[in-house]
Amino acid sequence: MNEAKPREPREAIEPREVMQEDDARLRITWADGRICHYIASELRRACPCAQCVNEWSGERMLNPEAVSDDLKIGDISIVGRYALNFRWSDGHETGIYSFRYLRELCGKDSF
Ligand SMILES: [Zn+2]
Repeated sequence: MNEAKPREPREAIEPREVMQEDDARLRITWADGRICHYIASELRRACPCAQCVNEWSGERMLNPEAVSDDLKIGDISIVGRYALNFRWSDGHETGIYSFRYLRELCGKDSF
C-alpha cells in the first residue's frame, strides 16, 4: 500500500532562532531559512487566546483599536516545543502562539 497522505513539512515550522530585536520587535529565523519580522502591537491584535477570540465561532472579540501601537514585549517564553507565549506591556499574557500560527501570520500583509 502506498502512503497517500502528503508528507508534513515539519521542518518549515521550526524556528531556528527567536530574537527580540528591541522592545517591540521580534525576528524569527525558521529552519528553512525564511526570516520573519513581527511587531508587538500586530502580534497582540492577532492573539489567539480565548479572551481575544471566541473559541466556538472563531470570531475575534478583541477590538484592534484597543491595542496601542506603542505596545511592547514584556517577556517571551517557549511553550513546550511548539509555541511561544508573550507577556505584553498591557499585562495580557494568555496567548499561546504556535509556531505554525506565527508562520501563517508572517505571510500576511500587516506583518
Ligand atoms: Zn489574548
